[in-house]
Amino acid sequence: MRKPLMAGNWKMNKTIGEAVTVLKALKSSVADVTDVEILICPVFTALSAAAAEVKGSNINIGAQNLFWEPKGAFTGEISPAMVKDTGSAYVIIGHSERRQYFGETDETVNKKTKAAFGAGLIPVVCVGETLKEREDNITFKVIEKQVRDGLKELTAEQAAAAVIAYEPVWAIGTGKTASPDQAQEVHAFIRKIYSEIYKDAAQKTRILYGGSVNPKNVSELMKQPDIDGGLVGGASLEADSFAQLVKYSK
Ligand code: PEP
Repeated sequence: MRKPLMAGNWKMNKTIGEAVTVLKALKSSVADVTDVEILICPVFTALSAAAAEVKGSNINIGAQNLFWEPKGAFTGEISPAMVKDTGSAYVIIGHSERRQYFGETDETVNKKTKAAFGAGLIPVVCVGETLKEREDNITFKVIEKQVRDGLKELTAEQAAAAVIAYEPVWAIGTGKTASPDQAQEVHAFIRKIYSEIYKDAAQKTRILYGGSVNPKNVSELMKQPDIDGGLVGGASLEADSFAQLVKYSK
């Protein structure tokens, strides 16, 4: 009942021209895919061109961040409506790199999540523990707080539409992947917490796994009952490898 979502987070990579070139290739490689939803999140400057390139195809475009205010004296920031205006449908919120380098907190994640919905965007809200937190055995406590505080005060409809990405920080860009069992354990926990808040909506919410997903490990991860897709960094940068991920063997 939950359509898998394979999302590429391009981080701070690719000029407009580079983004369009990869999307052109990706578009033709995945044109026949109907059973997996496809999302690419380029840098802000490439959003409009990316959205124009994939228009009418089965690829969606999303931003990697936004600011919650609608407009005004916030130099360097981009509002939810401005992101929507580029032709984007999604926005990543609370990626661990933003939490680590740009002071993102559960409070700002929540403001951004609500503002995204207010502009008609679907948020992909990232949660995940650091290596130290896993070693200190507080993974579940950390995740519970991130879910409860970051995703609070949504309507039932928003709660169902929101996408959650579980990204253990120790697995991002490190080549270390959580084992399918390790990931499933946290995904099931996230769905349980979410169902305590949002009841049946939690069964509709897609929970993506992120952290060194690649064409070799994707199928085993996707076999887990609570893993509904991937949020992919490195392996989404080239059309070939991302097309392989989208077409993972079921
Ligand atoms: C990410 O950027 O969210 C990510 C999971 O990166 P990577 O796939 O490179 O680990």
